[in-house]
Amino acid sequence: MEPSKKYNDTTNKEIYCKSCFEEIHLSPIRRAIEKNPLLCDKCISKIEKKLVIRKFEGIPILFLSNYSGIMESWLMNFKEYKDVELAPCFLSIFLPFIRLLFPFHTFVPLPSSKERIEKRGFDHLSMILQASKLPFLSCLEKRSSGEQKNKSFIERRKDKGISLLPNASQLQGKRVVLFDDVLTTGSTFLESLKQIQKIEVKSIHGLILMDHHEGQDFQIK
Ligand SMILES: [Zn+2]
Repeated sequence: MEPSKKYNDTTNKEIYCKSCFEEIHLSPIRRAIEKNPLLCDKCISKIEKKLVIRKFEGIPILFLSNYSGIMESWLMNFKEYKDVELAPCFLSIFLPFIRLLFPFHTFVPLPSSKERIEKRGFDHLSMILQASKLPFLSCLEKRSSGEQKNKSFIERRKDKGISLLPNASQLQGKRVVLFDDVLTTGSTFLESLKQIQKIEVKSIHGLILMDHHEGQDFQIK
C-alpha cells in the first residue's frame, strides 16, 4: 500500500480554519464530537457569547453575540466580499443551544431587497440557515428601492415594502423563528413580524446573530 493511501482516511486529513486559515489541531474531545470542524480553538474563543433573550413587540428574541470583533468582520467578509465559506461558521458554536431551544421550529430569514440579493448573488441569511442545516422557509420579499421611488421618504421609512410570498401559507400551524444577522432599528423585523402574524402560526420567536444596540435604542415591551 502506498503511504499516501494509508493516511488518506478522514481522521488524519488536515483541516484548516475557515476564519484564520491555520491548520486545526483537534483535541480528542472535539475529534469525538465534531464531524466537520470549521474553526480553530483560537477563533472560537474570539466569538463573543451573549445569549440573552429580550422581548421586542412582545416577541422573545434570542441574541447570540454582539456586533463587534470577529463576528462583525466575518459578516463583512461574507456579505461584501462574498466569502461564502464562512456561512456555516456564524451559528456553529451556538447550534446545540439553538436546536435545544427551537426543536420543532421553522426558521424564516428576514428579507434583503431583490436588488441586494441580485448584486450579492445570494441571500446571505438563507445561506447561513442552509449551511447550518436548520429547517427554513424563505417566504418574505422586500421590494427594491427602485420600486419604492414613488414614495416619500417618510412613507419609505414606515413601509419597507415587505410582503409574504405565496409559499408562506406553509407556515400555518408552525412554530416560527424570525432570523436576522443584526437588529439595528428593528423596523425590518417589525414589518416582517406583521406579515407573519397574518398567518395562523403556532408561535413566533426571534433569533438575531449580533446585538447592535444593547437594548437602549428600541422599545422593550
Ligand atoms: Zn482560526
